[in-house]
Amino acid sequence: MTGNGYRTIAFYPDRCDGCNLCVEACAEHHAGSKEAVHSRIRVCGDEEGRYTGIALCRQCSMPRCAMNCPAGALSKDPETGVVCWDEEKCVGCLLCTLTCPYGGIVFNAASGRVMKCDFCGGRPACVEACTRGALELKRGADLYNAWGDLEDLVVPGISACLGCNSELLLRHTLRRIGPNVVLATPPGCIAGVGAVGVNGKTAVKTPVFHPLLTNTASMLAGARRYYNRIGRDVTMLALGGDGGTADVGFQSLSGAAERGEQMIYICVDNEGYMNTGVQRSGTTPFGAWTSTTPVGSVLRGKTREAKPLPLLMVMHNCEYVATACTAFMEDYYEKLEKAIEASKKGMAYIHVFSPCPTGWRFPPGKLIEAGRKAVQTNIVPLWEFELKTGRIRFTYPVDDPLPVQEYLSLIGKFRHLDEEQIRLIQEQTERKIQILKAFTKEGRDGDETRVEGVGS
Ligand code: SF4
Repeated sequence: MTGNGYRTIAFYPDRCDGCNLCVEACAEHHAGSKEAVHSRIRVCGDEEGRYTGIALCRQCSMPRCAMNCPAGALSKDPETGVVCWDEEKCVGCLLCTLTCPYGGIVFNAASGRVMKCDFCGGRPACVEACTRGALELKRGADLYNAWGDLEDLVVPGISACLGCNSELLLRHTLRRIGPNVVLATPPGCIAGVGAVGVNGKTAVKTPVFHPLLTNTASMLAGARRYYNRIGRDVTMLALGGDGGTADVGFQSLSGAAERGEQMIYICVDNEGYMNTGVQRSGTTPFGAWTSTTPVGSVLRGKTREAKPLPLLMVMHNCEYVATACTAFMEDYYEKLEKAIEASKKGMAYIHVFSPCPTGWRFPPGKLIEAGRKAVQTNIVPLWEFELKTGRIRFTYPVDDPLPVQEYLSLIGKFRHLDEEQIRLIQEQTERKIQILKAFTKEGRDGDETRVEGVGS
């Protein structure tokens, strides 16, 4: 399959002014009329007149519409990336209009048939018509074309485990942030893969130091103050594990966040102390096996839920807080972009979900699938918080999530879970999404859910 197989049209709500040129262009291209009834794209707004989304086929890699079509009228073309609709085969049952989560297939009352985006043969009329750049045709390879020339600041052949997510994260983070950085890596997997040195050499081509588990943020704050004093703008970056962030290092992180120290702190959350024998940490999830939350006749894995560290950082009034996952790399790059800017004013904190094939007992080849499923089940919601708005925004909203079991069944550390435990995890997941929603615009506008202090 070529890179075209993953093409989609991206929407940037901040650039959209609701002019509807895209809607008219689509209708005109397909029906020779500008009437919206013929358009495959709709721009959606909120009550305050902001344009927040589009209803349009995303050309999914595993389209639900095609899976549900009883007539075989929908199929994914691996060469063009288009989910194709075959008018001859279509029996007009409209099931596809119900199953598409993006409103991407709609009934055209004028023609009496369903209709969907076909990329206009490779040059979408809507993208070309949008004068504000709010629509862009993207493909998987675009990410690498855009950032491929950035230097890889990590040497090849480091000592990470096979399929290590921490290595992927380290390479991409430094690639985006660049060499004008001081990197701090407390004891943990990032240091363990050789970032701070093996045999007298470091694996990274940037200044790096190795703080204690307890003092990463405070040491980095001191380094930043030194650079401020001599008038040099250098990015301070911490890459710490969940142990060095949520547990042992939390006091220094909390203090630095409260003081508004200028840095990017990234927590590489592999949900335990992976490089010292897979012990549980404060972010190990409920039910997970670790060497200190064993599975036997008495215990069935961890009995407590994970500490909600990203939300705790929101409550510290950080300039920027986000969650991320390497299976959604473009989302991560965009968040790094914002974190770089935010760290000029105060703390930017990114919490990255980091599946660990070795400690979680799953094949390295399933790394990205594990990340995708975690997000698609809402186990790991992707969101960001900006102090200037005081609100959380979902960057990959999952309104119709898969059952949590689709993620749990991939991971060996959950293999022992019984039905009751899975039910509890499903409940916990739904409850956490409701809590997050209380911090979104809609939630915070309601009296009962408004959280005073944050962003005020
Ligand atoms: S309306 Fe046509 S394309 Fe849609 S599900 Fe029914 S048969 Fe398939």
